[in-house]
Amino acid sequence: MAYLAIYRKYRPDNFDKLIGQQHIVRTLTNQIKNDKVSHAYLFTGTRGTGKTSAARIFARAINCLHPIDGNPCNECEVCRELLKPTNMDIVEIDGASNNRVDEIRDLRERVNYLPSVGKYKVYIIDEVHMLTDSAYNALLKTLEEPPRHVVFILCTTEVQKMPATILSRCMRFDFKLVGINDLIDLMSKILDDCKVSYTREALAAVAAAGEGSVRDALSVLDRCVAFSDGNIKYDDVLQILGATDKSKVFKLSDSIFDGDVAGILSEVDDIAKTGKSISVLAKDVAVHIRDMLICKNCNEPQKILNLPADIFENLFSRAQGRTNKKLLAALDAFNKVEADLKYAIDPRVTFETVCLKVANDDYDEKIAQLEKRIAYLEKNGVAVSPRRQVEKEEVKKPAADKDFSRGQMIWAKVLKGVRETDSPILKAGCSEIDGMYVYGDDFVLSVSASQNSLLNQPNNFKILNQLVFDESKLNLKFEIKENKSTIEDDIKNLEHLIGKDRLIVE
Ligand SMILES: [Zn+2]
Repeated sequence: MAYLAIYRKYRPDNFDKLIGQQHIVRTLTNQIKNDKVSHAYLFTGTRGTGKTSAARIFARAINCLHPIDGNPCNECEVCRELLKPTNMDIVEIDGASNNRVDEIRDLRERVNYLPSVGKYKVYIIDEVHMLTDSAYNALLKTLEEPPRHVVFILCTTEVQKMPATILSRCMRFDFKLVGINDLIDLMSKILDDCKVSYTREALAAVAAAGEGSVRDALSVLDRCVAFSDGNIKYDDVLQILGATDKSKVFKLSDSIFDGDVAGILSEVDDIAKTGKSISVLAKDVAVHIRDMLICKNCNEPQKILNLPADIFENLFSRAQGRTNKKLLAALDAFNKVEADLKYAIDPRVTFETVCLKVANDDYDEKIAQLEKRIAYLEKNGVAVSPRRQVEKEEVKKPAADKDFSRGQMIWAKVLKGVRETDSPILKAGCSEIDGMYVYGDDFVLSVSASQNSLLNQPNNFKILNQLVFDESKLNLKFEIKENKSTIEDDIKNLEHLIGKDRLIVE
């Protein structure tokens, strides 16, 4: 048996099977029932929403000898004739390849011939926005005085490119993006018919990938059917789509929201090693953050998300630990990076930078919260020693001069070099470092004194020093956490001062 793509095999042959466009179907079928057919229609909307299918159904319906409720019967001799691809009365013209004026002039002459089987001859011009200006003018003359037996259906994905003179002569219909649930219902009917089993979560993932286009969703479904051996599962769909393994996206997003720089870099490395495209990864992270926002803010998130139960629970519990403000800022950053990645010389570094920036915002927020807290305590007369006030300024002031973003970018490159060395102690030591910044001519790593493997072994220091110099031409210095007033110390002190339960620390 010859293989026929699902999209072609299940193309709707009457209006009842056209999904997601009820508003259009109602008007068109009413016109047919009341015999008020117009001579020029404009069907506009995203690709794969059913414009051409609707045009073909409409062409048969207005010619059908026994229409049923505005639908073509598909059985009478006219319908059967018009269902043949070779019929002379439904003429499909591709605007993209027949856009010249000569071809449209030729069309003007041909419209005078009478239809061969039915009442109307129907011209469907696809991608009509591709016509040249002179071709438009020629078309306009035909539209001004069309013969009684001719109906034009102009289809376009880009209605804003159409001249107003054409628009004003057509009855316009806007095809909507098809909703996820309509797509799921359609696909489950098709799969039942093909005797292929599936899970609803798997179909929801296919529908989401279609982004409102029936054609795109069914072409993904086609690949899933071929891949899955009679049973389509959620994981299969992710694999077909080249999506990143969910557990890896979870880990990466945890690192981002926890401000764990080493975690971010090692997880991106991990995912990149599996050969995933960075732009797909960026999209997956953006979708993950959006899903968390839905979990936090919608009444019945699972109804919207349609995720497998374990993944949903995981997502839901994580979402509760994050603030809307933080999630929105992150979503904004990852949506923007999708566009930047197209022009990036090294997409991976671009992506890592965004991860680190989002993580770093979080760090700034911690400082801001702490400052607010100290100000509050001072105002409300809680004893803060003069020494602590001095230290508070210390936290604040150098932060303006320390360049954390640049520090993280340099560190990302240094870590790449570290990974290529064969010193496990150096790798382990570096993976524990979570603070770094550029200060003047210095590249400063913030370490605790217990990370002695880095500082006590001269060879490790030499390697690291060289890598830092190669990447940045800066001096490598270490800041020992224990001796300075750090944020953790402040929190501990505040906890001691006013009690743990009075502190809001994320
Ligand atoms: Zn018929």
